Amino acid sequence: MMHGNLIGGNWQETAQGFDNINPSDTRDIIGRYAASSPADAQAALAAARAAQKQWAASTPQMRFDILDRAAEEILARKAELGDLLAREEGKTLPEAIGEATRAGMIFKFFAGEALRPGGEMLPSVRANVSVEISREPVGVVAAITPWNFPLAIPAWKVAPALAYGNCVILKPAEIAPGCAWALADILHRAGLPAGVFNLLLGQGAILGPILAQQSDAISFTGSTGVGRDVCQTAAAAGTRVQLEMGGKNPLIVLDDADLDTAVECAVQGAFYSTGQRCTASSRLIVTPGIADRFAEALAKATRALRVGDARHPDTQIGPLASEAQMDKVRSYIEGAAAEEAELIAGKEPLHPDQPGHYLRPHLFDHCTAEMAICREEIFGPVASIERVADYEAAIEAANATSFGLASGICTTSLKYAADFKRRAEAGMTMVNLPTAGVDYHVPFGGRKASSYGPREQGSYAREFFTTVKTSYQFAG
Ligand code: NAD
Repeated sequence: MMHGNLIGGNWQETAQGFDNINPSDTRDIIGRYAASSPADAQAALAAARAAQKQWAASTPQMRFDILDRAAEEILARKAELGDLLAREEGKTLPEAIGEATRAGMIFKFFAGEALRPGGEMLPSVRANVSVEISREPVGVVAAITPWNFPLAIPAWKVAPALAYGNCVILKPAEIAPGCAWALADILHRAGLPAGVFNLLLGQGAILGPILAQQSDAISFTGSTGVGRDVCQTAAAAGTRVQLEMGGKNPLIVLDDADLDTAVECAVQGAFYSTGQRCTASSRLIVTPGIADRFAEALAKATRALRVGDARHPDTQIGPLASEAQMDKVRSYIEGAAAEEAELIAGKEPLHPDQPGHYLRPHLFDHCTAEMAICREEIFGPVASIERVADYEAAIEAANATSFGLASGICTTSLKYAADFKRRAEAGMTMVNLPTAGVDYHVPFGGRKASSYGPREQGSYAREFFTTVKTSYQFAG
């Protein structure tokens, strides 16, 4: 049986399909999923278009009820959804259940937002005239999502889009379609009218340009290169566009940092979720008074991490999500060795008892800013230590990147913490916390090559998913 598309309220199989493979055990095929054609994309757009007026006119109570029902089901099934997520993406069970919980809470949050879309009433500068500022849905919204948060990212695009009265086409990543399919099934049964939410499975290169051209707004999360293509296509067609893309996030460790906190932040930020997070801290920028102690303690903690099947209770680091990911990360490791970065953890071979994309976390010391591992997003369990002279050099190094998503510091100094929060060129800053790990009710996003357009999540999401109308009325 094939897991099909959901278009216009009907589940539809496609002529072509692809297998969803478990990266912890590549013999395990989770299921067969639809591979849509351009005609399927056109059908999804037509279904969303046909449903748009009615959904835009639906009551906030109806939207609240449906989103809240979906939230309740996601939370009630978080263990089962987390298991599916761990099986198809490769993050560990606690991380995957955490992501399912987060997805449920996002639906709860936006169920509430449906009740408070905002608006203003102002006196005009002219006599006997009133001015009303209201928010309306944008229309048909396409959401294109990556595989690394296959439940939470669809949730944080789909929930606000629906809450503010838009119809949606979700195009999830090819290699982890199971969670998106499960989410579509939940939304369908939660009572959405036909066509309000559509699931379109398949290849981004085929479907993405059609969605970017023909929807009213497109919200994309993925790599910077693909994001820029989406942006160009959308801009040429006049489609509203929002992009969340790559990261190369620094974590500064100052002399006065608490060593245990710094090591914990680095291990969590660099290696958890197998380093496959846009907010991962792959650059560790360290001042001289703590550098040796930090490198030694972090290398020890890194070597102790247990790599294995994502669903095994002892596993701390699951596999990489795909063979392509494995090849890419390995090439960075080989490049770092060629550039003479010093490998201080990760040398020991792994002996997995099943075929999967397993890789030990790798830690390089004595790295320099010019090395590819310090400049480019690796998206795997690889971190580099750059030793710098002092705080000023650290902040300069932290900002010397084309990305600007998250930036962190470990220090016990209020002065440095406050200064860092002001000067870090990033959309999110963390003090004595890992760069990865964020709340669901506040804005998420970055600067420079990491993001484009308004922020996602929290009440800031309404900037993208609504359009403002200013209405004047003569009252005389
Ligand atoms: P990707 O860019 O390869 O794919 C992302 C999505 O885009 C997928 O659904 C894919 O099918 C689709 N796509 C591919 N080609 C397309 C095209 N030509 N037009 C339109 N869509 C197309 O990224 P990925 O490998 O799935 O995810 C990893 C990347 O995502 C990393 O760079 C990571 O930093 C980034 N990411 C960013 C955030 C953030 O919020 N900033 C969050 C998670 C992941």
